[in-house]
Amino acid sequence: MVQDVLSIPPTFSPSVPRLLDKLMVTCPNSDSCEESLQRGSLSDHLRYRCSGTMVACQYAGAGCDHRGPAKAMPKHRSECKFRKEGEQEETRRDF
Ligand SMILES: [Zn+2]
Ligand SMILES: [Zn+2]
Repeated sequence: MVQDVLSIPPTFSPSVPRLLDKLMVTCPNSDSCEESLQRGSLSDHLRYRCSGTMVACQYAGAGCDHRGPAKAMPKHRSECKFRKEGEQEETRRDF
């Protein structure tokens, strides 16, 4: 391995971080997300696209403190007691 490092021309070194960004890595949220992606895209993936990222319920503003993986949110939303849209089951309003 030492020989490999020494054989890298000095001019090559500055580009090594960019090469590392091209490495394929698996998502750290592997329990809920099985994606593998380029290392350089990982932070964007985790922030915007990862189905395993923990997110707050969209009704947090209404008082819900539920948090969970993004992919589990549709299920939670459908049963969240703080949702105001589609109050088919509960027509009573406590105001
Ligand atoms: Zn992911
Ligand atoms: Zn909720």
